[in-house]
Amino acid sequence: MMSLGIEVKKGRIDRRWQQEDLAEAAGISRKYLSQIENDRVDPRFSIVKMATLTITDQRGWPMPAPVRYTRWEDIPPHLQTRTQLARQGLRPARDQGPVATMRNQLRPAAPYALYDISQAIPKRQATPAQRAALAATRDRAYALRHYGTCSICGDTEVPREDLERFGQCGPCAEAEEAALRTEHRAEAVEWARKVLADPHAVVLDTETTDLDGEVIEIAVLTMAGQTLYESLVQPKGAISAGAAAPCTG
Ligand SMILES: [Zn+2]
Repeated sequence: MMSLGIEVKKGRIDRRWQQEDLAEAAGISRKYLSQIENDRVDPRFSIVKMATLTITDQRGWPMPAPVRYTRWEDIPPHLQTRTQLARQGLRPARDQGPVATMRNQLRPAAPYALYDISQAIPKRQATPAQRAALAATRDRAYALRHYGTCSICGDTEVPREDLERFGQCGPCAEAEEAALRTEHRAEAVEWARKVLADPHAVVLDTETTDLDGEVIEIAVLTMAGQTLYESLVQPKGAISAGAAAPCTG
């Protein structure tokens, strides 16, 4: 029985192909093909099948060795790469081997296989289920890139932007802020209650009375509501920002 390597080699030599022709057409290195032919490696079935299909046509007849090109401008328009075919909704037929290869300095180790467009067939359309699976995978990848998990509520679809800004999701950040506001408000109410309980406390009330804020009303009131002082002040110039700031203490 002929070994696999010898069978490949005999098929190649019968058709007057150089090792380089077959290696290029099958998309493997010449060194690897040499190892296959000498039975030093056990090639993947797909490679042997591709090699066999490459050197015979659909009826098993020998195919001429592929023409080698080194410049895109030399390639006749009916010879196209898989990518070029795909752009037109085509792909090589199941047993359509490449009839030429294109090898340039950009891709010295991996030449492009060129197929005769007249033998190409329409690309299989993905089934709706395949398309849905693809979309789901894309969505998952997108979600991983753009969304994270809130450590407080466990929401897994929090925009990364919110996580970076708030350290949590938007609603949790809002809830926390509201809780803080309530706390501050409670403190303010508590402070006001204490102050107002002091019978000697007075209230200083200032208010601008016209739209331009030029006239200021100043009043001092006791807790009992008695007016101790009330006056309208019209500053000559504009009140500086510092002076306009509310007094504290
Ligand atoms: Zn949250």
